[in-house]
Amino acid sequence: MIQRFTKGLLPTVKETPADATNASHKLLLRGGFVRQVGAGIYNFLPLGLRVLRKIENVVRQEMDRSGAQEVLMPALLPADYFRETGRWDLYGDVLLRIKDRKGGDYHLGPTHEEIVTDMVRREVKSYRQLPLNLYQIQTKFRDEPRPRGGIMRGREFTMKDAYSFDVDEAGAVTSYETMREAYKRIFTRLGLTFRIVQADSGAIGGKTSAEFQILADSGEDAIVACTHCDYAANVEAAEVAAPVAAAPPATLEAITKVHTPGKGGIADVAAFLKRGADQFVKSLLYVVVKAGPGAEKTTEVVMACVRGDHEVNEIKLQNALGALEVHLASEADVWKATSAKVGYAGPVGFAGKVVVDRHAAVIVDAVTGANETDHHVTGVNFSRGDYQAVIADLRQAAEGDDCPKCGTKGGFKAYKGIEGGHIFILGTHYSSKMKCHFVDEKGAEKPIVMGCYGIGVSRLVASAVEQHHDADGIRWPMAIAPYHVYLCTLANDEATTAAGQALASALEAQGVDVLWDDRDERPGVKFKDADLIGCPIRVTIGKKTLDQQACELKLRNPAPGTDPKAFELVPLADAATRIAGLVRG
Ligand code: ATP
Ligand code: MG
Repeated sequence: MIQRFTKGLLPTVKETPADATNASHKLLLRGGFVRQVGAGIYNFLPLGLRVLRKIENVVRQEMDRSGAQEVLMPALLPADYFRETGRWDLYGDVLLRIKDRKGGDYHLGPTHEEIVTDMVRREVKSYRQLPLNLYQIQTKFRDEPRPRGGIMRGREFTMKDAYSFDVDEAGAVTSYETMREAYKRIFTRLGLTFRIVQADSGAIGGKTSAEFQILADSGEDAIVACTHCDYAANVEAAEVAAPVAAAPPATLEAITKVHTPGKGGIADVAAFLKRGADQFVKSLLYVVVKAGPGAEKTTEVVMACVRGDHEVNEIKLQNALGALEVHLASEADVWKATSAKVGYAGPVGFAGKVVVDRHAAVIVDAVTGANETDHHVTGVNFSRGDYQAVIADLRQAAEGDDCPKCGTKGGFKAYKGIEGGHIFILGTHYSSKMKCHFVDEKGAEKPIVMGCYGIGVSRLVASAVEQHHDADGIRWPMAIAPYHVYLCTLANDEATTAAGQALASALEAQGVDVLWDDRDERPGVKFKDADLIGCPIRVTIGKKTLDQQACELKLRNPAPGTDPKAFELVPLADAATRIAGLVRG
């Protein structure tokens, strides 16, 4: 198709918008792709919509190819379905709730497990109708506490959500693997650099899950990946290799109380006592909330111990304790539990429950707080029974850690990522609650085993920009560029316009999308906008090129090592075929 600049809405701006922080937000605003309507709510202008649609098409093709079937569920939903599974309450403030004219409770869909489960329980009765995978590409609504990065984290956004239904766990695993392969093809075709990472499955019944993380320094998620094998995980979920147990020394120090006035922080005490931070047992107090036997919740203060140079991973702590939530205790709670100021807690003599990380438990002659302000104890050995504690993997993985899978020493490298997709085996969590049952070959009634699979389609628009831009603007991968070609005609005389029209038509005939900058503007202005909008191929026709019956061809993202300013003079007669070849790759 051909879009003339003078006939469309293409509002590029020079100034960097003040409120935009990351590159994609700035460039999508400046390039005229999106405009804000409200906090976390955006218009897609023509250019932005073209990118969104191209991404949707790739997603749709690969979902269809994987055997999934497209459906469309409503965004406006009666509360009954979320009430059936308890999510009407659990979802909290993220759920956008609405009353209709009769006072009935409704909400806007943040995700559709309940709705699709209801659809299937009405229609599917027998094992003969399974497996099934149903997907949609649809607008989702979440009242995010912190919408940010423009369309990166919106309150209204486009998601592809798919749900698989199988007769048993093995079937669900097959469906999951099929989706994993489809996602690999999708992210690869979109030109995104990604890692498949192990994720925390959270509280909701899931056993197996993975995130598709798009690597970008601006990403919200911290990832560790092994440099030698394919192990990669969100730090929330990353395992840490167990410590190698060294032979204990012949004699252990006796526990000794030392005066450490005003030295509450590890770095300060370590310097004061001339010991490495790895000789310390860092003890943090957490308020742990658990579900009681009834509907009530119970709370307890628990001590979590990690090595002085390590950090507590609160999700691991929560999982280790089977808790609903954990949060750091207040100063007052610390006083109550240890009779000391913050900074002097330690497991020796502590009355409450203690959980110790495996790497902290093996420290020989450790230093830790004495549960007395301005005092520490030295010579602490868990192996000798100096304190009682549950051992767990509690610490946050970090760059330089050994790989838990292949064992490579220092194999972990840290990355930042943007969660582009998430695949998940749900099991029978929803199907049991909602009685989504089928009858198996032997006539027994069983809950269907489900999986769910999301892709943040609109988030991918921003993610692609994060990975593909430079100081001048966006560099769209060919597969999702709003137009393949940015055609600049440098004059509005008859000959130039005719040559521009002829080339644009020839390109259109070959399936190439052309944005034709036919404005009465200086070349400098057009070239700046061409770089900003970021179509992969720029073609220029002016008096000089016409004298040679040619046009100038320049790539927005030339191969590494080539001069970024270089262009090529191509005879007009060959240009369309040449360019179409580049577009097809
Ligand atoms: P996040 O941790 O980023 O909030 P999530 O775990 O809540 O994501 P899912 O519920 O798994 O996300 O949704 C599927 C996909 O939808 C995510 O992988 C992400 O790409 C996208 N997504 C989630 N929330 C938003 C949002 N507020 N704006 C844009 N895309 C989103
Ligand atoms: Mg979220």
